[in-house]
Amino acid sequence: MNAWFTAPLETAGIFLAADFVVGFVHWIEDAYIRENSPVVGGLIGRPNILHHHLPRRFTRKSWWESCWDQMILAGVFLAFASWAGFLGWQAVLFAALVGNANQIHKWAHRSRRENGPWISLLQDLKVFQSARHHARHHTDPKSTHYCVITEFLNPVLERLRFWTRLECLLWKLFHLRRRIDTSNRRHGAPPVWIRIASHA
Ligand SMILES: [Zn+2]
Ligand SMILES: [Zn+2]
Repeated sequence: MNAWFTAPLETAGIFLAADFVVGFVHWIEDAYIRENSPVVGGLIGRPNILHHHLPRRFTRKSWWESCWDQMILAGVFLAFASWAGFLGWQAVLFAALVGNANQIHKWAHRSRRENGPWISLLQDLKVFQSARHHARHHTDPKSTHYCVITEFLNPVLERLRFWTRLECLLWKLFHLRRRIDTSNRRHGAPPVWIRIASHA
């Protein structure tokens, strides 16, 4: 088939695939990684919990501070793609999107003025997710809209009740309980470590 026809379709598919992978990891972090979980609790759990309590704090982070974990994931994927023999532009684009997903996420927490005209344009063109769309993830009970790259996957997944069904399945199979999100208003005052961090 003509590359002029297939390349845009492949690009769209790669954006959606990267969005799903990043959304899946985000869902695991939000639903199951606690501040005191072994190994990942301090490294991933705490910054993630803090992000729900103080969403704008994230914008102070550098590119590397925001993206290091997703960059590792992207690097492992590229190494695998090279080993398995499918290291083409598609694999590189997928890795670039996964690796930079938290930068794209960060843009959805910044104002248009902070983002400047180019990033704002990309958000207007729906290449990347807008602040308005991402705000739904930060609205209580904060258990929807986990994908942070595009605006196209979240409505489909929410209509399917994908994450809720997955959580029900994990409960039935392994009695795995979703962690309580202390940033929800109905849970009252935040934990002490968040209160200390909020003054930093
Ligand atoms: Zn979240
Ligand atoms: Zn966010």
